[in-house]
Amino acid sequence: MKKKDITALFTSFRQANPEPRGELRSETPFQHLVAVVLSAQSTDVGVNRVTSTLFRHAPTAAAMVSLGEEAIAEHIRTLGLFHAKARHVFGLSRLLLERHQGEVPGERAALEALPGVGRKTANVVLNVCFGQPTLAVDTHVFRLARRLGLAKGKTPEAVEKELLHGIPGEFLMHAHHWLILHGRYVCTARKPKCDSCLIAQWCPSAGRV
Ligand code: SF4
Repeated sequence: MKKKDITALFTSFRQANPEPRGELRSETPFQHLVAVVLSAQSTDVGVNRVTSTLFRHAPTAAAMVSLGEEAIAEHIRTLGLFHAKARHVFGLSRLLLERHQGEVPGERAALEALPGVGRKTANVVLNVCFGQPTLAVDTHVFRLARRLGLAKGKTPEAVEKELLHGIPGEFLMHAHHWLILHGRYVCTARKPKCDSCLIAQWCPSAGRV
C-alpha cells in the first residue's frame, strides 16, 4: 500500500476513535500484565469476568503470591489453559517481588524474563502501561495487516517488523488498538463487514474475502 494511502487509512481510524482503548479491565500495570497473560486464547470478556474477583482478592504482586497458585487457578478455572496460566501468574508475581519490588518493569528484556510473558504480552504492556509505540501482533492484527497489504510476513514477528516500518510514526502509539478493534468487530475472520468498513476505499481485499 502506498504511504499516502496508509496515512489516509490511519487518519480515518484516528478521526473515528482518537483515543482507542483495549477492553481488558485493570487499574495498575501489575493488573494489566496479569490480564494480558490470562487473555491468551481467551476472550477479553471472559478475562474481565475472572479478574473482577481475582483482583479484589489479590490486587498486587505480593497479594497474588500470598493467594497461592491453587487459589489463583480456582479463580480463573473458566478460562482455557487455567492451570498453566495460574502457574504463570503466581510465578511472575513472585519474580516481580524478588527482582522489582513488586512493580512491573518498563523494559522489554525484564518483562520477557517473567513466566508466561512473551514478545506479544511485553509489547502490550509497554504500549498500554508505559506509553511506548510498540505493536503487539495478535490474531486480529495479523489477519488485518495481511488483508490490508500492510504486511506479507508469515510470522507475528515478521508482521510486527513490517508494521513498525510501514506505519507513520504519528499513528504508532494507537495503531495496535485501532487494528485490534477493527479486526474484532469489523474485519472479522469469517465474515468481514466490507460494506460498512470505514477503510474499505484503501483496502485491496474489500469485497474479496
Ligand atoms: S474492506 Fe473488508 S477486508 Fe478490507 S479491512 Fe474492511 S472489512 Fe476488512
